[in-house]
Amino acid sequence: MSLQPHQIIRQQLMTSKFWSVQDVHWMEYALTLAKQGAECGEVPVGAVLVHDEMIIGSGFNEPIGRHDATAHAEILALRDACLRLNNYRLPLHTTLYVTLEPCTMCVGALIHARVDRLIYAASEPRAGMVGSQMNLPAEPFYNHHIKTYQGLCAEHSSQMLKYFFRQRRQMAKKNKARVSQFI
Ligand code: ZN
Repeated sequence: MSLQPHQIIRQQLMTSKFWSVQDVHWMEYALTLAKQGAECGEVPVGAVLVHDEMIIGSGFNEPIGRHDATAHAEILALRDACLRLNNYRLPLHTTLYVTLEPCTMCVGALIHARVDRLIYAASEPRAGMVGSQMNLPAEPFYNHHIKTYQGLCAEHSSQMLKYFFRQRRQMAKKNKARVSQFI
C-alpha cells in the first residue's frame, strides 16, 4: 500500500538528520505549486524562495503557458522575488526550495541571484546539474557558492512526475487511436 503525502513527510521527519520542520513545510508548499503546474498541463515542478521564514518569491514550471523556454519554476521564483524587492540580487541567507534538481540554466541564475541555500526534492538523472550529470555549484571558478541539499520529499515529487508522464503517454495513445480511426 502506498503512503499518503503527509505520511511520507512524517516518515522523513522521523528519519532525517538535518531537515527542520520549516524545511518540510516549505518543500510541501513547493509541491502544491508543482501540482498547480500539472493541472495547467505543465511538467510539475514548483519552487519557493524563503527569507526569514517568509516567502519572497514563488513559481511553477510554465514554459508552455508563457511561451517561454526559460520559464522554469526556479527562474519564475527568482523574478518574482527580485521584482518584489526591487533588487537583482537576493538578501543574504535566502533559501530556494524546488521539487526537482535544477538544470544548467537555473543553477546559473541561482548563482547570479546569490541564493544561499538550495534544497531540492527529486533528482533529475538525465540533465540535473547539482549532482546527477555534473555538480555545477561545487565548481571553484564561480564567485558565489551555494550550499546544496537533496532528497527532501523526493519520493512525493518523483511520484507526482511519474504520474504526470504516465497520464500524458496514455492521452497521446488515446489521441493516436482516435486519429487512426479516420485514416
Ligand atoms: Zn531549470
